[in-house]
Amino acid sequence: MLSNGIKYLEENQVSDAKIDANLLLEYVLDVNKVYIIINGNEELTKEQIDKYMELIRLRADKKPLQYIIGHQEFMGLDFIVNKNVLIPRQDTEVLVLEAINCIEGNNIINILEIGTGSGCIPISICENCKEVIATTVDISDKAIEIAKKNAIANEVSDRITFIQSNLLSNVDKDIEYELFISNPPYIKKDDINDLMIEVKDHEPINALDGGKDGLYFYREISKQVKDFATKKSYILYEVGHNQSIEVKNILEDYGYTDIEIIKDLAGINRVVKGVYRPL
Ligand code: GLN
Repeated sequence: MLSNGIKYLEENQVSDAKIDANLLLEYVLDVNKVYIIINGNEELTKEQIDKYMELIRLRADKKPLQYIIGHQEFMGLDFIVNKNVLIPRQDTEVLVLEAINCIEGNNIINILEIGTGSGCIPISICENCKEVIATTVDISDKAIEIAKKNAIANEVSDRITFIQSNLLSNVDKDIEYELFISNPPYIKKDDINDLMIEVKDHEPINALDGGKDGLYFYREISKQVKDFATKKSYILYEVGHNQSIEVKNILEDYGYTDIEIIKDLAGINRVVKGVYRPL
């Protein structure tokens, strides 16, 4: 059966056909990779074959594997995902690791995340920094629903407040935050059509679309979070390929200092960090 799955995915130009066919079989049989290797010739029931081929067809139609199996690993934790949230990316681990460094180095407690999606950022931060209290927003209540489930499953829900909000419009100004963090939508509107089918036809468009120049959210967030700053607040952004200088300039225009650019494992400028000190 596995070879049929691989062949079907290859014929449909699925890039990781072999890996995905294996993962879908593991999912249907509820077993791990080693089991499949050892018991490769085991007969499957008709139900198992039908289920497997149904999922293979979904993948051949370019539905992301993570939406089919409903999960993605991030920072060593498990996250539930569905079509209402962006699938957590490995690139974003650089942002989280930088946040953890910043939190530990400055004894930070209160953090504010903008655009939580699956909740992967505040949840993995809270998991690693036991003192942190996070507030996070998302415009989509369907995303908030998933993020809350993920916080409960990862046992950090008592330290995260989820607010449905278009950027910071619904957030009370009575708490000051020492760290702002976001992986905002940053694809230029006109470039969305060039993305892989898996992304452009399946992931939520409002998690991708960064407006005409891709920088809309960097400007808005940099401006809006200033009302929530303490006497020294840090900001950390994930940025798209080739956006680090533009985002650095936006931060400088809005009065941020000490700007740093941090690379990901592929050597691409991936995170921009700044400091805001209200006058
Ligand atoms: N914070 C979420 C993530 O990093 C969602 C980001 C987004 O939707 N742009 O995966």
